[in-house]
Amino acid sequence: MNSGINGMTDKPIEITMVASEMFPFAKSGGLGDVIGALPLALGRMGHKVCVYLPAYRSVVRKYAPGSPVRIPGVFSGARYDIFSLEHEGVSVRLVAADDLFDRAGFYGDARGAFPDNAERFARFARGALSHMEGESAHPSVIHCHDWQSALIPSLLKYRRADDEKWSGVSTVFSIHNLAYQGRFHPDEFAHTCLPDEAMGVEGLEFYGDVNFMKGGILFSDVFSTVSERYAQEMLTAEQGEGLEGVVVLRKESLFGIMNGIDDAVWNPESDPHIPAPFSSAHPEAKAECKAALQAELGLDAGAEGPLCVVVSRLAHQKGIDLVLETMDELMGLGVSLAVLGTGDEDLEKGLAEAASAYRGRVAFVPAYDEALSHRMYAGGDVLLMPSRYEPSGLNQLYAMRYGALPYVRRVGGLADSVISSPTPEADSDTGFHFDAFAAADFLAGVKGICRVFLDQGLWRMMMRNAMEKNSGWDGVAPRYVELYEKAMRPQPR
Ligand code: ADP
Repeated sequence: MNSGINGMTDKPIEITMVASEMFPFAKSGGLGDVIGALPLALGRMGHKVCVYLPAYRSVVRKYAPGSPVRIPGVFSGARYDIFSLEHEGVSVRLVAADDLFDRAGFYGDARGAFPDNAERFARFARGALSHMEGESAHPSVIHCHDWQSALIPSLLKYRRADDEKWSGVSTVFSIHNLAYQGRFHPDEFAHTCLPDEAMGVEGLEFYGDVNFMKGGILFSDVFSTVSERYAQEMLTAEQGEGLEGVVVLRKESLFGIMNGIDDAVWNPESDPHIPAPFSSAHPEAKAECKAALQAELGLDAGAEGPLCVVVSRLAHQKGIDLVLETMDELMGLGVSLAVLGTGDEDLEKGLAEAASAYRGRVAFVPAYDEALSHRMYAGGDVLLMPSRYEPSGLNQLYAMRYGALPYVRRVGGLADSVISSPTPEADSDTGFHFDAFAAADFLAGVKGICRVFLDQGLWRMMMRNAMEKNSGWDGVAPRYVELYEKAMRPQPR
């Protein structure tokens, strides 16, 4: 690897990321956290990093300085406005395309996904590349994330043939969730500005539709996902979301890298959002955080079982229906439950009903609230994450850092990051697992957790293991550098 002392590189790489979210500018889930932290960690290693984001209305209003620069599009007659700002050593470019991003919501509103998302994100990818084209130096690597920027490797494949300047630019495509593919009616292909031949079976065509992610997988130099286990799962019919055949085709160029966490933002010793700081050496004040959370959410302080918390998008993927299905039994076990999340109407309704049926034992906050999420991890004893699948998962990493032991289904990044032995091991375990997505298996695990909770000596040892687990991005970023170096070498096809 190309790293010198202290993680500093002796050969800086010019890296350009293109993504639809970046904390603190725009975040709806884990992707926002990753792009909020990985570029900064690469910058600390000495690399030069630039990030392209859509110019969402909320971001422009809060962060964009001055007037944008108007640039011509290189794929069509379209024009773009580019705002530039600097953020902790990273250059950020906001791409405005007519009024496509000047609206409330990133991907949709209360009525669902925006009907023009194909056009919006095709224009985003084309606008970002158009701006790079006008810059004096091209990056060495363009790192794209998820379907919203997945057209870039496809656009570059053809651009490289036409224009020598692009031939030295490599592409890396990272999949944060294979289920969201950017799949649209074939008429939407016109927005890509790709030649017709790109709409074949060996291109973006997918069961008659156009699939942006398929192009990202096929035409990037290397591609990755956010845990080693999910990289394996993506090759299977169960988890491959219909794209497993395409993933298998390129499996020699697929890598799994577990996400990290931004340990400046997620640090219980210095977190401005929590009522009392604590650490693995001095965890005592966690009890104060728990009492404050119970008071804030109207939960009884006297429950004998652990306080279980959920911080999640309420999507089918996250398996919260299993919690609803077993609610009566959970209450019978003496646990209390606090849920922060928004999403599916049925899940929101079920949780609201449980909160009114079990007043004082169940609390539900149907909101997206960054500050409260910190207080939930700090005040909770256990984080529940019964996901059907989970590419990486960040919540369990935050929970461990804040001494809330994760109870997770043994899939994807949850399996890779939470250590759990058949009989809890005081020296190593950081949480609890269950396997089958079934009420009986889930409940059996909760019973075991309640037993361990009674053994406060063991519980505190596990809390210490969890809090001391090192998951910072500075340990992860060098693995991405290896990936960029692989991408920059000619790839077998
Ligand atoms: P995903 O990206 O699938 O939503 P991750 O576990 O990778 O799942 O990341 C979720 C991120 O979103 C975490 O930072 C979590 O704290 C945050 N999050 C999810 N729901 C909420 C919410 N309702 N309020 C605040 N933060 C939330």
